Amino acid sequence: MAGSVVVVGSANVDLVVDVPRHPRGGETILGENLRRTPGGKGANQAVAAARGGGADVTFVGAVGRDDDDGELLLASLRQAGVRTDPVSLSELATGTALIAVTADGENTIIVAPGANSEVTIEDGTAGRLGEADVILAQLEIPLETVSSAARARREGATFVLNAAPSRPLPADVLEEVDVLVVNEPEAREVAGREGSPDELAAALNELVPAVVVTLGADGAVVARRRADRTHVPAPKVRAVDTTGAGDAFCGVLAAALAAGTDLADAVHRACLAGALTATRSGAQTAVPSAEELDGYHR
Ligand code: ADP
Repeated sequence: MAGSVVVVGSANVDLVVDVPRHPRGGETILGENLRRTPGGKGANQAVAAARGGGADVTFVGAVGRDDDDGELLLASLRQAGVRTDPVSLSELATGTALIAVTADGENTIIVAPGANSEVTIEDGTAGRLGEADVILAQLEIPLETVSSAARARREGATFVLNAAPSRPLPADVLEEVDVLVVNEPEAREVAGREGSPDELAAALNELVPAVVVTLGADGAVVARRRADRTHVPAPKVRAVDTTGAGDAFCGVLAAALAAGTDLADAVHRACLAGALTATRSGAQTAVPSAEELDGYHR
């Protein structure tokens, strides 16, 4: 049965340009094929939880009032079936991400947060959070909002934190986390040390009950207390644009957990979603549907 997921996070317009290589400091290079597409980790993950995960999804975020970028984001969320009524309209501009993509699919990203810096948990929203099976957040919004969102969950609900982009995590946020999802650089940042993915997962597992470290084409490592660590491979694909792969992973993972799926199986489906997303350009537009995932799954 489909579960309910509330995603608390950012919504950005992505301005994406293809580049032959990434520029060095002080350098200007020519790119081509500029696109303007809906993105932001929060909105991407909400779209993935709904379209790829089949969950009942609500998005809590903020976009600019009366601005075209905000309209683009709300339309994309609604088209995926995400409820957007808790999205607040800010006097600040909609968040914008400047993304450069090379031919091998590697990207660099600069985010101007704008309205995302005003995402807060209002009284009405706290009620919605209290009804969710899974609350999913990332770090492109204020940390106080992340911890308020986690604290609003009901008994038995799961708080999944994707600690991206990389930034230090205060103890009051970390202690709320049920499932932590990080890529390798983020794992090093939160753990405060170097190490192999297995070592990082083990170190993080001392801080939170469950950890998923994503490894790009190599899939993910899952660590839980009192259980063996498992490695979940990603299917082999030809990556053309990895933008949004991690977000598709997190959204589909949250939806599977909300439906009562065991963590290792949820990660398996999330890896598939991440891999398929990497085969298409764009973030939200690249997310596979639940039917497509069912066709590949097991
Ligand atoms: P992020 O984009 O957040 O750094 P990753 O690069 O680890 O995260 O990608 C997230 C997930 O997407 C991976 O765990 C994997 O399942 C999938 N993925 C990403 N890149 C590829 C790829 N080149 N081939 C197959 N799967 C991929």
